Amino acid sequence: MRAVLSSGSNMGDARAHLQSVVDEFAGEIVAASSLYATAPWGKTDQPDFLNQSLLVEVENSPRELLACCQELEQRANRVREERWGPRTLDVDIVWIEGYTSDDPELTVPHPRAHLRQFVLAPWLEVDPEAVLDGVRISELLDGLGDQGVRKL
Ligand code: ATP
Ligand code: CA
Ligand code: CA
Repeated sequence: MRAVLSSGSNMGDARAHLQSVVDEFAGEIVAASSLYATAPWGKTDQPDFLNQSLLVEVENSPRELLACCQELEQRANRVREERWGPRTLDVDIVWIEGYTSDDPELTVPHPRAHLRQFVLAPWLEVDPEAVLDGVRISELLDGLGDQGVRKL
C-alpha cells in the first residue's frame, strides 16, 4: 500500500530525528521531499520546525503503519505535553492510497492536512499529481498563501 507520511521536529537534533524516519523506511521510500524550515502552526510561541514528507510503499496495514510511526516517536523520546507543542519527533500519516478512516485513533486523510502549508508543500514535491478530497494539492496550496514554509 502507498502512503504519505509527514514528519516534523523542533526539539533536539531535528535533522537526525527526521533522518531516523528515512532510515526506518529505507527500502520502502518511493520519494522523499526536501527538508523545510517552517513556522510553528497552531501554537506559535515555540521554535521553528523542520518538516519532511515521504511517499512510501509498505507491506503494513494502516494500523501497523501507525504503530510504526508511534514507535519512531517513542525512540526519539517524545514526551506528550501540550497540544501542538514542541516535540522531538512527530510522524503523521497524511494519506493512504484507496483508504479512508474517520476513527479518531487513525483518521485518513489527516483531517488538518489541507490547512497546512508545511504538510502540503513537501507532499507536492513527492507527488505532484496528488489530490485530497477531490482537490489537487497544488490548488489547496495556492489557496493557503504563505505560512512561513521555506524549502532548504
Ligand atoms: P495533529 O494531529 O493536529 O497534527 P499532533 O500530531 O500533535 O496533532 P499527536 O499528539 O501526535 O497529535 O497525536 C494524537 C493522536 O492522533 C494519536 O494518538 C493518533 O492515534 C491520532 N491520529 C489520528 N489520525 C492520525 C494520523 N492520520 N496520523 C497520526 N496519528 C493520528
Ligand atoms: Ca502532527
Ligand atoms: Ca502526530
